[in-house]
Amino acid sequence: MREFVYQAHPMRVRFGVRAFDVIAEEVEHLGLQRVAVLCTPGRAELGQALARALGSLCVGVIAKAVMHVPREVAAETIAEVQALGADGCVSIGGGSAIGLGKAVAMETGLATIAIPTTYAGSEMTTVWGMTADGHKTTGRNESVLPKSVIYDPELTTGLPVETSITSGFNALAHAVEALYAPNSSPIISLMAEEGIRALTSALPGIRANPEALEARSDALYGAWLCGTCLGSTTMSLHHKICHVLGGTLNLPHADTHTVMLPHVLAFNQPAVPEAVTALSRALGSPQGTAITDPARSLWELARELGAPTSLQDLGMKQEDIPPIVRDVLNSSYGNPREVSEESITRIITAAWTGRL
Ligand code: NAD
Repeated sequence: MREFVYQAHPMRVRFGVRAFDVIAEEVEHLGLQRVAVLCTPGRAELGQALARALGSLCVGVIAKAVMHVPREVAAETIAEVQALGADGCVSIGGGSAIGLGKAVAMETGLATIAIPTTYAGSEMTTVWGMTADGHKTTGRNESVLPKSVIYDPELTTGLPVETSITSGFNALAHAVEALYAPNSSPIISLMAEEGIRALTSALPGIRANPEALEARSDALYGAWLCGTCLGSTTMSLHHKICHVLGGTLNLPHADTHTVMLPHVLAFNQPAVPEAVTALSRALGSPQGTAITDPARSLWELARELGAPTSLQDLGMKQEDIPPIVRDVLNSSYGNPREVSEESITRIITAAWTGRL
């Protein structure tokens, strides 16, 4: 008999719609009347277009979001949202815009709506992050969860192919680690397997034609499921290593996940036979081609898709390996297979060279 806990998060999702067509309706559904739009500076035009779609329901656009939510950016945005007299926020963009919305929600208690345009999955989690003095702090807080999420595949057709692939791998990593998380459940495993299947079959289609709406829709659907996995379980060694690499060396978030995932999975595979079976099903072809080594399949997929495959390519120096290993060893996290200085060194060195 299996015993497990599944904690569902209250969340309304509209999938496969044109966000601009439904945003006003969605804002009114939540009883909001004066929302601020949050986005990155690079997506300011998109933010303005969303403001126009909202009409009198929008009180301003704040295009300040940057990666990892610097504390001063969060403080400025919160002050601006309050000065505008906003009663809610709509974040449009990737994890950076959604992360800024979370910072506002946590401080002010305002409701947020998320319109994700990458596959990072932050919209599905209660995890917030903030960076100060070169150090990123994360935590969980129910108040940061968007009240409503709109998935509009058309908004993702402009996401550059390279970013789409690495963002997709970022999402895959959530589902892979959810499969062997200490607090996983059969419900989460279903979502993880389906999310991995949807994403890995969509990414080659996006590589071939970034505007292919069917592939974009499948990838966003997969990203939603993978994000839910992230939000409902505790991540292990892979996420910890990426967190340390990102926080310490400022390596790009999604690229780092793409490079690391096959290496950590290769290490963990012998300890997680059920996860390997689920991954083999998810990564197998629809014709039923058997996959025996999911880590190798992911490593090959990343290569075929032209994604970065070594930490060296991301700018990490070989002499950075020992301090990173120490940082990872000194952090607390669970992992299905016991780790040691030797094994973490081996994993990170393999990822640094790019050889599985
Ligand atoms: P991002 O949000 O920084 O987006 C990357 C770049 O792509 C930005 O310049 C953005 O403006 C641009 N962009 C986004 N969507 C686009 C589109 N459709 N077309 C063209 N350009 C587009 O990157 P990300 O990988 O989505 O998010 C990374 C951040 O999210 C990190 O800070 C990470 O820690 C955080 N994150 C948090 C969680 C969580 O649960 N809290 C989960 C995943 C990621």
